[in-house]
Amino acid sequence: VVDDEEGGVLFIPGASSFSSSSSSGYGYASIDKQRQRLPVYKYRNAILYLVETHSTTIIVGETGSGKTTQIPQYLIEAGWASGGRLIACTQPRRLAVQAVSSRVAQEMGVKLGDQVGYTIRFEDVTNQDETVLKFVTDGVLLREMMNDPLLTKYSVVMVDEAHERSISTDILLGLLKKIQKRRPELRLIIASATIEAKSMADFFRPRKKRREPENDVNGLKVEPAILSVEGRGFNVQINFAEEPVQDYVQAAVSTVLLIHERESTGDVLVFLTGQDDIDAAVHLFNEEIQNNRKHSSGLVVLPLYSGLPRADQELVFSPAPRGKRKVVISTNIAETSLTLEGIVYVVDSGFSKQRFYNPISDIENLVVAPISRASARQRAGRAGRVRPGKCYRLYTEEFFLNHMSNEGIPEIQRSNLVSCVIQLKALGIDNILGFDWPASPSPEAMIRALEVLYSLGILDDDAKLTSPTGFQVAEIPLDPMISKMIIASSQLGCSEEIITIAAALSVQSIWISGRGIQKESDEAKLRFAAAEGDHVTFLNVYKGFHQSRKSSQWCHKNFVNYHAMKKVLEVREQLRRIAQRIGLVLKSCESDMQVVKKAVIAGFFANACRLEPYSPDGMYKTLRGSEEVYIHPSSVLFRVNPKWVIFNSLVSTDRKYMRNVMTIDPSWLLEAAPHFYKLQQPNLLH
Ligand code: ADP
Ligand code: MG
Repeated sequence: VVDDEEGGVLFIPGASSFSSSSSSGYGYASIDKQRQRLPVYKYRNAILYLVETHSTTIIVGETGSGKTTQIPQYLIEAGWASGGRLIACTQPRRLAVQAVSSRVAQEMGVKLGDQVGYTIRFEDVTNQDETVLKFVTDGVLLREMMNDPLLTKYSVVMVDEAHERSISTDILLGLLKKIQKRRPELRLIIASATIEAKSMADFFRPRKKRREPENDVNGLKVEPAILSVEGRGFNVQINFAEEPVQDYVQAAVSTVLLIHERESTGDVLVFLTGQDDIDAAVHLFNEEIQNNRKHSSGLVVLPLYSGLPRADQELVFSPAPRGKRKVVISTNIAETSLTLEGIVYVVDSGFSKQRFYNPISDIENLVVAPISRASARQRAGRAGRVRPGKCYRLYTEEFFLNHMSNEGIPEIQRSNLVSCVIQLKALGIDNILGFDWPASPSPEAMIRALEVLYSLGILDDDAKLTSPTGFQVAEIPLDPMISKMIIASSQLGCSEEIITIAAALSVQSIWISGRGIQKESDEAKLRFAAAEGDHVTFLNVYKGFHQSRKSSQWCHKNFVNYHAMKKVLEVREQLRRIAQRIGLVLKSCESDMQVVKKAVIAGFFANACRLEPYSPDGMYKTLRGSEEVYIHPSSVLFRVNPKWVIFNSLVSTDRKYMRNVMTIDPSWLLEAAPHFYKLQQPNLLH
């Protein structure tokens, strides 16, 4: 049992013991001490014993108790990484992979990328000869299985953040269960922040055949072990909004200013939904700091979301300068994946961006939706790490009780399954409906996915991957529609352009936007705007960036996000390499945008829409499903409203908005996907 008193003494507020990332004042002993103070340390031997004796060990423990950073180190210390074997630890989020691996490398006193490394999509910081502990996204481990289906390099796989139930985590769990049948010596650790250990254990418990002995394959217990790490966690006082809040960004900013004015020292963590919200809040703070110095002096405001440059990530983890109060504005990444020391106040908007999929209309979109009560509790818990804290919920108690679900729904039950089906097919799992899922996806969604893959030419009549297209698509770590677009571009002679477009689609946004600079950024965008739409506009921006010799000043002047463009360059290089590896032809079409458009359509024909005649506000309907959608204000085609368009993705706020839109000639749809459109829309061209 962990002693609360002790915890209070050990975590000295303000003197955050984790400042060692940049300063060199800490010796190894000090880090050792810090490690021993984490709640998980008391369970070190128990954990190692369970892992030794059981195939699967489920570990539940409060966020910040040391599961992610400590358990992999215990495993190394106990010899699980000897003899050329590797340990993997998976995370659902890329940013978490980077942050925890760098923390662990630092604790072990090694350089990140040597003994400890990480791999996320398009970024591999490991060393074949040296790395023994690899932090990866669960998606990356799935990809590794394509070359090494039994994960033979690994002695232990720790699936972390299992409570998140991300789609890749669920697929991974299903596959690991299969692997264990063939490789009983592979140990699994499933770590999670909340108690749903029993259902996990049920999933991993082998179905008992009669008269089979209880346990033991090679002396190993097959019944999963469950261990619960008691956290410390101080009391957190909860405050609800009295009235429903109109604008949670504005409300969050006002609340932080009130806390700053009235409450004693301690950092603030604000939960908003995504980069756009967060940038807007940062902007409001900056305005406040400029206009009203008295209120806001002493505040250090920092954003935290995936895609944040490395240097900015490190700032978030370092303690605020003396006498200053740190305010971190985060997506739900800080809910359980990352622990920030020193947080005493939490401001919770009550929302997050969630994926929803409707198999009837085949529409998947990102929706800002209420979080679950379980998430709300987790968020509040972040305030009680160092001493008793306070949580300000920007919603009413009535909302909490009546409009928030108790638990979230696993992502696999609210996602489009196209990528998931390809991955399983590529791993040779043909009976996808019969696959052993921790939570079953809906058969409708599964059938939809098979249908789309068939019309993309990725699956054949027997629902097997086609050769070469299907296998090539499986090799490209992108959404299958984008992969298909790249493959088509090789045949059409415009792969250089399409790869640029694919890279630009893989970053959040290449533009700088936000409240207050809308007009300027819109004007800047017009300089690059192409009549064909956003895809060709990306090409114009890329060209300008290239001609400026990749200048950050040029980006600044044109409201282009420099970090995003650097990422585009990186992803582009990786995609070119993959394209060459799978035998695609790298070629530029110079200025022939017709072929570029055809390649985009080859991937995205299913997202075609037509402008509603006589619609005053630019309403479109999707060709299949007749969903009402609108062009997103960030698109260069916003207000232009061409008759026929296709889009890359949808986001919902008050309406469903299409992001990244391109004009099309409808006859090309029939050309690109005759089967798909003839069956669905016999009178398409009317
Ligand atoms: P859990 O996985 O159980 O939530 P972690 O292992 O992530 O816990 O965290 C254990 C401790 O390590 C926490 O006190 C946290 O503040 C610290 N820590 C984790 N990552 C970092 C980092 N990147 N920088 C500084 N401290 C960190
Ligand atoms: Mg963790």
